[in-house]
Amino acid sequence: MAKSFHPPVRTLMGPGPSDVNPRILEAVSRPTIGHLDPAFVGLMDEIKALLQFAFQTKNALTLPVSAPGSAGMETCFVNLVNPGDTVIVAQNGVFGGRMKENVERCGATAVMVQDEWGTAVDPQKVADALKANPDARVLAFVHAETSTGARSDAATLCKLASEHDCLSIVDAVTSLGGIELDVHGWGADAVYSGTQKCLSCIPGLSPVTFSDRAAAAIENRGRRAQSWFLDLELVMAYWGEGAQRAYHHTAPVNDLYALHEALVILEEEGLQSAWDRHQRNHDALAAGLEALGIEFVVDREYRLPQLNCVRFPDGIDDGAVRKTLLNDFQLEIGAGLGPLAGQVWRIGLMGFASNQKNVLLCLGALDAVLRQQGLAVDSGAAVAAAQAVYAAQS
Ligand SMILES: *Cc1c(COP(=O)(O)O)cnc(C)c1O
Repeated sequence: MAKSFHPPVRTLMGPGPSDVNPRILEAVSRPTIGHLDPAFVGLMDEIKALLQFAFQTKNALTLPVSAPGSAGMETCFVNLVNPGDTVIVAQNGVFGGRMKENVERCGATAVMVQDEWGTAVDPQKVADALKANPDARVLAFVHAETSTGARSDAATLCKLASEHDCLSIVDAVTSLGGIELDVHGWGADAVYSGTQKCLSCIPGLSPVTFSDRAAAAIENRGRRAQSWFLDLELVMAYWGEGAQRAYHHTAPVNDLYALHEALVILEEEGLQSAWDRHQRNHDALAAGLEALGIEFVVDREYRLPQLNCVRFPDGIDDGAVRKTLLNDFQLEIGAGLGPLAGQVWRIGLMGFASNQKNVLLCLGALDAVLRQQGLAVDSGAAVAAAQAVYAAQS
């Protein structure tokens, strides 16, 4: 007979999910109510307002899609991209490739603008592509590329899109709560995120927001979206302003308690304080990794503080290191993806997991495991370097 599942207690410092704040786990376990219960409708209104705060927007069309970040991505594409459209997709990692998949499955043509993995999207190349493709309707790019740890200049890219009469679709799955995300200030049109990265919430929801311009494009598209579940015209009958709260699908009630709690925590801390905390812990981790002779893939200027993509030392057994970290230290870090597989580690410092204890644990554990692998490490130097950064900050 099967028994109850009790997961091991890990420290999650990979590319997501990140450690979930215990307050959020407690919120999830509160009693389930009906998704049309008046008490639940009040919760939905608060979630919407909190998402507007987190995204920095007043967009009326702001809601959590009842599925993970990938569904938020798909929601943007199936609602905004029509068959026969031309879409410019900037790719500098894994997730830009998924955007291309989405565009093509919508029956549209993706014009790819490629940048090397580990670099930011080059706005000049995007500008050239927009000029060369005056029929393009949409520009899509990833703000925070979790596969490489690179941050792109979302403000400039969104501005280029609107100057060329294009809607912008922005992947902010790893950005939200970790680095500046200014939907209104940037003039971004469609932005999707996720709950399990820097919001440190349980996985499985995708906050999205659409500008009035994007909402008008949906209203006037003159066709039904190819997806029934993700069709925002239908979803809005449930989530929309003054909506009848008509049944579309059963909302993931307890997951939404979790998201509400995560957003309350973010509001309590404040956006700027949360971004500053991610930067401080990144600075300490970076000093420690450098003391171990470990190098970053991304130039300092474009590094994501919440996702540290680093080349591991030559001669190291990547799999053995990560296995020992997991088994002996209960510590998860991420492996490389795509062309970076077998070359890098991706060390996340996301949301609740972005703290001093985790930075020191990770550095101490890497110090020990690399020594065990026969690497001549200056033992103790990494933790000391991080401690020195913290001391200088306080
Ligand atoms: C994690 C991630 C996604 C996908 O989110 P899921 O919740 O795994 O579906 C999309 N884009 C980026 C940049 C991500 O980091």
